[in-house]
Amino acid sequence: MKKHHQIVIIGGGTGGIMVAAQLKRAKKGLDIAIIDPTETHTYQPANTLVAGGLMEYDATIRSEKKLIPSGVAWIKEFVSDIQPEQNEVGLKNGGIITYDYLVNATGIQINLDGIKGLKEAYGKNGVCSNYIDPRYTWELMQEFKGGNALFTQPTTPIKCPGAPQKIMYLMGDYIADKNFKEDTNIIFATPGTMIFGVQPFKDELENYLKKYNIKQRYGYKLVEIDGEKKEAIYERLELPNGNDSYVVNDERNAAGCMGYVWEDGVKREVQEVNSPFQMEERGTQYIIKYDMLHLAPPQSAPTWFQNTKLANQEGPNKGWMAVDKHSMQSTKFPNVFGVGDVTDLPTARTGAAIRKQAPVVVKNIVKLMDGQVADCKKYNGYSSCPLVVSHNKMLLAEFGYDGVRMSDPILSKFFNTGKASYPMWILKKYGLPFMYWNLMLKGYDF
Ligand SMILES: Cc1cc2nc3c(=O)[nH]c(=O)nc-3n(C[C@H](O)[C@H](O)[C@H](O)COP(=O)(O)OP(=O)(O)OC[C@H]3O[C@@H](n4cnc5c(N)ncnc54)[C@H](O)[C@@H]3O)c2cc1C
Repeated sequence: MKKHHQIVIIGGGTGGIMVAAQLKRAKKGLDIAIIDPTETHTYQPANTLVAGGLMEYDATIRSEKKLIPSGVAWIKEFVSDIQPEQNEVGLKNGGIITYDYLVNATGIQINLDGIKGLKEAYGKNGVCSNYIDPRYTWELMQEFKGGNALFTQPTTPIKCPGAPQKIMYLMGDYIADKNFKEDTNIIFATPGTMIFGVQPFKDELENYLKKYNIKQRYGYKLVEIDGEKKEAIYERLELPNGNDSYVVNDERNAAGCMGYVWEDGVKREVQEVNSPFQMEERGTQYIIKYDMLHLAPPQSAPTWFQNTKLANQEGPNKGWMAVDKHSMQSTKFPNVFGVGDVTDLPTARTGAAIRKQAPVVVKNIVKLMDGQVADCKKYNGYSSCPLVVSHNKMLLAEFGYDGVRMSDPILSKFFNTGKASYPMWILKKYGLPFMYWNLMLKGYDF
């Protein structure tokens, strides 16, 4: 079976719905189809709140049917192939959809196979992830009565790279509230070199790391989880000169650590090697015992997509969709565009980034339809991360390509967005979800 649509959008998540809704507003009478088999649509940024017991899960889910813009066809199928030379999309059921213009918005794939033992340990043995089910994270948080709470992330790119630490601050807040602080080690072990790459957000986050006594280990690559023994097994990565490998942030455990401690805001080097929280060295591997482990699993572009001609076939961006970083146009096929997590854009993969990408995609498609060139190159890498640091405080990190700080002109007029505050929290809990459902997914460009 072959069917044709003028514009085909693969994926009806954040990017797919936003582009479809904006196209409908930009030009009357367009024939658009969204291909996506999923019946529900999740507002993923609220996963952090659900996991911290601060929002009901049901409030984050809506029926996909209600979000597909009126007049847009919905093909409830999996795409399994794209043949851009023939302008064809292949469906899992054998059908073929042809197009004049294609938008790829298939998002990111979670790879539980990417770390040995993860698939077996996830969902039991104290292993949870807000990238899979935030309700389980909240369950584990409530069961936690002290011990090692380990937070970690993979070496692959991930969506919302701030999410693995947001839940850690909420844990710090929760533990303090429940008076378990004295019996708990919160540990952040990451392959990264620092907590956040853009100032002044880094300094502000460090205040919260200290507040919650969070111990940080940088240059740690998770290679295996032994769910039965509740052990996370790491290898060390070489860090550039000058980066701390270990920040203790806790006077109780200062003795016996290698790295640095903070004392009254002053950093002091300590030499001893024995870890205060049972980190064990086994040859080239480092084992951290956990009672609760939250992780972002390894992620990639969807496997089937990696084999298409739209994906980079080599280099550091192998598998991700190759697009012009300012116009979102495929670098290989001019009638094809990418939006969101599946692209190789060198910025943080977030819904906030898509809010700025979608209008550029739409403008360029309309230009092509009008016989012009796709020369709208306005996307500057904007992305933002609402970093929740407690049950009532948030700071909004906004930045563009090369880690340049950016600020929303209206918000920054009234608030210091780089400082965690209650008004920012209100924005996270009420303002951003409202904007998402009622403005972004309805095709408003603001
Ligand atoms: C825990 C967590 C916290 C986050 N916090 C924030 C935040 O605070 N702020 C923020 O801006 N962003 C945040 N994000 C990131 C944000 O949700 C994503 O970046 C955004 O939703 C990506 O949109 P997308 O359209 O690229 O992909 P998605 O919204 O994931 O949509 C992809 C769609 O493609 C469909 N699809 C996949 N494969 C196929 C196929 N083969 N055929 C057909 N359809 C297919 C899927 O069903 C899905 O509907 C967070 C994400 C998580 C997990």
